[in-house]
Amino acid sequence: MANNPSGSISLPEGLLSGNIDEYFMRQALMEAEKGGKEDEVPIGAVIVSGGRIIARSHNMTECLNDVTAHAEMLAITAAAEALGGKYLPGCTLYVTVEPCPMCAGALGWSQIGRIVYGAPDEKRGYRSVSGGGYKSPLHPKTIVTEGVLKEECSEIMRTFFQGKRRKR
Ligand SMILES: [Zn+2]
Repeated sequence: MANNPSGSISLPEGLLSGNIDEYFMRQALMEAEKGGKEDEVPIGAVIVSGGRIIARSHNMTECLNDVTAHAEMLAITAAAEALGGKYLPGCTLYVTVEPCPMCAGALGWSQIGRIVYGAPDEKRGYRSVSGGGYKSPLHPKTIVTEGVLKEECSEIMRTFFQGKRRKR
């Protein structure tokens, strides 16, 4: 509408949504930290539905001795259980690192509404296999936001792998 007296509302709304993404990414970072303390690669995830966290997880491949136990996979299962349905179109996944092709495929199957990730992963991220003529494994309706708290999300990974190298 051209004559909207409350036209100024768009800016605070924009700021608010930015803050909300950072807020939930911090929750995912807390999960990543938990994982790091358990000697897991520190990647954390939360799934939000209706403004509420319905699933929290971190990478558990070491503890479960299972290469598929990525934070996103565990979060998808927990969220579906919380909602009592396997599809997650009304949900947002916050994950500290760009999902790998396996998780992107699972997220595609889940029809998740939105994915927000922190740090890009050029070597193992899903974008390394999509693009260049290949179709993205994500659902066509899924909205992706990248780079939220990117520095913090990369830093926790860097610190973890530096510590690993020192131990060897
Ligand atoms: Zn993964």
